[in-house]
Amino acid sequence: MDVTETAGMRDTVYGRQGELLDLLIDYLRQPSVSATGEGFPAATQRAMRELELAGLRAEVWETAGRPCVFGRADGPPGAPTVLIYGHYDVQPVGPSDLWRTTPFEPVIDAGRIWARGSGDNKGQHYAHLQAVRLLREARGGLPVTVKIILDGEEEVGSPNLEELVSRQRDALAADVVIYSDGPVDNSGQWCVKHGVRGVLGIGLHVRYADRAVHSGNFGNVVPNPAWTLVRALASMRDDDGKVLIDGFYDDVVPLGEADREALRGLPPDDSTLADFGVAEMDPAYGDLSFQERLAALPTLTINGLHSGDPQRTIIPHEARARIDIRLVDGQRPEAVLERVRAHLARHAPDVVMTQEMGVPPARTPIDNPFTPRIARAMAAVTGQPPLLVPAMGGTLPVYVWNQVLGVPALGIPFANVDENNHGPNENLEVSRYLDGIAISMAVLSELAGTVAR
Ligand SMILES: [Zn+2]
Repeated sequence: MDVTETAGMRDTVYGRQGELLDLLIDYLRQPSVSATGEGFPAATQRAMRELELAGLRAEVWETAGRPCVFGRADGPPGAPTVLIYGHYDVQPVGPSDLWRTTPFEPVIDAGRIWARGSGDNKGQHYAHLQAVRLLREARGGLPVTVKIILDGEEEVGSPNLEELVSRQRDALAADVVIYSDGPVDNSGQWCVKHGVRGVLGIGLHVRYADRAVHSGNFGNVVPNPAWTLVRALASMRDDDGKVLIDGFYDDVVPLGEADREALRGLPPDDSTLADFGVAEMDPAYGDLSFQERLAALPTLTINGLHSGDPQRTIIPHEARARIDIRLVDGQRPEAVLERVRAHLARHAPDVVMTQEMGVPPARTPIDNPFTPRIARAMAAVTGQPPLLVPAMGGTLPVYVWNQVLGVPALGIPFANVDENNHGPNENLEVSRYLDGIAISMAVLSELAGTVAR
């Protein structure tokens, strides 16, 4: 694919922007709130119809929760298969008085589409759907086989996705997975994201007496659960941020040389700290860069602790904390949970532990065969090579692609950084949507040159 061809794609998209915006606006009018059920089951039928309008053979895949929709359109024989993942469900709208517009009545203003789901995630996966439609129209067919799966319950944690992917492994078989969710880099530059951290939430609870008692009348007599809990927490991490739980780091797969090289090429991100009134990064991690702290290291975070009442002279009867552990490539939630359990059994046997959630991490090495082609396609559309991000700090269920389906998975986010996803006034810049369509057209064309399995 040459540069003229790519420039032609962008011209085609911008030349048809009225139609492309009208279609998206109509799609955004359909509520699809997975948490409450608002808009279901019509939302599922609507998502399936959109796949059909893009030229895919579509079907609904039922799950124990809200259904996924799946579609496929074949490229030439022997062409690689690209699986695109997105989600058609949205977050609840929240307090409506904080919205300047009505969440399911999309408005274009100041160069942005304002609506619930505009950035997260309808506008982003719709860019791929329209790219498929425009490519078929322009070339009479697709350069690669395209499969698209749209999740109906991503915003409630995709509880049934792993089971569905295992069950539909054959239908989903692909050479590479692409997902467009979340925003571009904080600097506003386009990027390719190669992984996410996993997460494990753990509740900790200590209880001795059945009610709080007088700290004078019973001080040194009745044991204090707050001391037990803070000592348990303190036993888990040293002053350099190193987690002291035996075996915690055993399974960590270190970043490869290409990933380290990519990290060095990312813009410094420390400026975002000022937004929170923080002057410096956590000194526990020395001179590690912002990005390296997110991509290369697991965390152990105290999310909250509670015991007693600072206004009364009491010995509390119970103490509670919640911790979360963000996991990096190689770590498994179940294994780490067992190590926390063993640590507590040895150091703080009075602490009762409950697991709240677990999502494995996922990472595709940057020196995979697809990234250079995707980067070239993106540069041809946007005029600038994308940033290559080894892993984001947050968590998405990308492991279902890397680990369950066994396919490299790459994130190409289209949304602006201030998309306000999950909040009021969610929006997507019109130019990001249109560029996203052109990027998808260029990426699918460029991936035709990769060899199918
Ligand atoms: Zn979301």
